Amino acid sequence: MRRRKKFLLVVGARPNFMKAMPLYRALKSKFDIFDPVLLHTGQHYDYEMSKAFFEDLELPEPDIYLNAGSDTHARQTAKIMMGIEDVLMGDNYDLVIVFGDVNSTMAAAIAASKLLVPVAHVEAGLRSFDRTMPEEINRVVTDVLSDLLFATEPSGLKNLKSEGISDEKIHFVGNLMIDTLISYREKAARSDVLDRLGLKLGEYALLTLHRPSNVDNPQKFGEIWGALMEISEKITIVFPAHPRTKKRIEEFEMPIPHSIRLLPPLSYIDFLALQMGARLVLTDSGGVQEETTALGVQCITIRENTERPITVEVGTNWLVGTSPDAIKDAAFRILNGESKTGSQPPMWDGHAADRILEVLEEWEPY
Ligand code: UDP
Repeated sequence: MRRRKKFLLVVGARPNFMKAMPLYRALKSKFDIFDPVLLHTGQHYDYEMSKAFFEDLELPEPDIYLNAGSDTHARQTAKIMMGIEDVLMGDNYDLVIVFGDVNSTMAAAIAASKLLVPVAHVEAGLRSFDRTMPEEINRVVTDVLSDLLFATEPSGLKNLKSEGISDEKIHFVGNLMIDTLISYREKAARSDVLDRLGLKLGEYALLTLHRPSNVDNPQKFGEIWGALMEISEKITIVFPAHPRTKKRIEEFEMPIPHSIRLLPPLSYIDFLALQMGARLVLTDSGGVQEETTALGVQCITIRENTERPITVEVGTNWLVGTSPDAIKDAAFRILNGESKTGSQPPMWDGHAADRILEVLEEWEPY
């Protein structure tokens, strides 16, 4: 009998879990061919940023937990690299699979490639072309080290080709995050989160904000917050705040009007339900830009650029920049009835995991 292909799937931070879940499950279902091992680096460790997703997404406890925790970028990346190196030296893995653009993604790619273990990158080729963004560094480094590159949208293919990555390594497979959204949409529709928060369908805006460029500088954050306070005079804003943002709100002593409902981070199902029921979403998240496009919900992206241009080109994403006037203008236009008619990006059909599985079945370990 042929040896099963042993894969190490590395997750570490909130946006990784919903991307890993459908692939992990698909690999598990072919247990005669694949032996997937789930490693959690511990980059995110709070219940609301980690364990809650394992519960909602019905993922098993990770097989390996590294306990990296928070630290500066270099220290956190180094700790994860050391942990992954130990794991890879202790066993024979055929492939390390990494997701998205967080420090765990890059750290695992570096540790694996130095030990000559091939790397597969899910969500390859996305580029904001903004190297002040830590995630952009993680994307570029991970892609250059990867042997299999799974792209979610056409811009990813174009970027990888223009960076000289050979065609046979690149596979356009669609979006695992949208596989997860499609499989949990019905469950989210049954969530009672709107009742629990006393909200009515279509009568609130949903906000997430956590990019360092938006929240770490008191003046910048203050300007954006000013715009949000004005918008909240017209519509209640529900704001499940990322731990980093909550810290900044306290540190900068931001005023919190009643019309901005500051909440802890929400579980996947509750947050999905809130996206589905929102009049509009305001965000600087990568994943939320994609999910709102998949749901056809109007999304104002508070950033100067996006690494996910398909959401603007065919989806419902309004990329408005970070000036308060631009944010308010877009929100008031939407509240006055304007909307972008979105369509679904190619291959965001719930079958990305199947397509990745096909590639991995064909792929032979070296
Ligand atoms: N999300 C969530 N609860 C929240 C906020 C976000 O479940 O309170 C989900 C969201 O639906 C998406 C993912 O977290 O699936 C996006 O993660 P995040 O914004 O932290 O990271 P980014 O995509 O910006 O890297």
